[in-house]
Amino acid sequence: MAVDPIMKKPLYHFYPGSSVLSIATVGCNFRCRFCDNWVISQERDIVGRELPPQRIVDTALEYGCEGISYTYTEPTIFFELTYDTAKLARDKGLFNTYVTNGYMTVEAIECIAPYLNAATVDFKGGGNLDFYQKYMSVPSVDPIYEALEAMKKHGIHVEVTNLMVTKYGDSLEDLRKLARWICENLGEDTVFHILRFHPDYQMLDVPSTPIKAMEEAYRVAKEEGLNYIYLGNVPGHPYEDTYCPRCGSKIIDRFSFEIVSWKLKPGNLCPECGYKIAIVGEYKPGGSGYPFSLI
Ligand code: SF4
Repeated sequence: MAVDPIMKKPLYHFYPGSSVLSIATVGCNFRCRFCDNWVISQERDIVGRELPPQRIVDTALEYGCEGISYTYTEPTIFFELTYDTAKLARDKGLFNTYVTNGYMTVEAIECIAPYLNAATVDFKGGGNLDFYQKYMSVPSVDPIYEALEAMKKHGIHVEVTNLMVTKYGDSLEDLRKLARWICENLGEDTVFHILRFHPDYQMLDVPSTPIKAMEEAYRVAKEEGLNYIYLGNVPGHPYEDTYCPRCGSKIIDRFSFEIVSWKLKPGNLCPECGYKIAIVGEYKPGGSGYPFSLI
């Protein structure tokens, strides 16, 4: 359990500047060999503290959070708890977000949809099937696409990430296919984060993704028509920032989890050309910039 800036999820176009109470339990339905949360995601014993839904909601309010994020491992592993908590949270005016690998049924989405405001759906290795089977022990990628379509249908704000693991996966062809699918099925304003891999867990021998490869991936995703693409895990890179899709002006300056400068006019309009930037909610200046752990 921790208080996180919303940008850490990452959600860049959803209540910018807000904080979320992040919670997780042990376990995951995937076996990613590069998982950076493997200490909890691959734990077989039930460890940790018991936190009933009301306590979670009270803690979020106590720390001034605007929402609750079910994250770090896989929220569908503790679906019942997320469902009960999200209902209570909504009644208290808090929003709810999932950070998920997307491997869930349409029925699960229909069940949680009335209470789930946003989701970060994480691809790895460009969504390449061989990569999913070999390095994540996942038999098929199709359910993730079906889940994304169901989330869109139910009006859940979705941001998609892709962890680039250049040595084994992430050909630019895979990335192009993924970007094209997002653009055609979720819309050109869907936020797409390209995340840098760093050696972890059972992939300590694999080097971090070269920045040049990430920049190339950014260019390819742009060519496919997406308006809002970001590079993640590269603090200080210019592609952490938001540029107006119409006039190209830099309108949000970021550094890691922090918004350094916000130039949008009320209503999230570009200050140069008046274009409406696809952002849910208004910016909260002075929001939490750094995560802090509560357990
Ligand atoms: S889906 Fe996420 S939490 Fe689960 S094993 Fe893979 S990287 Fe770790």
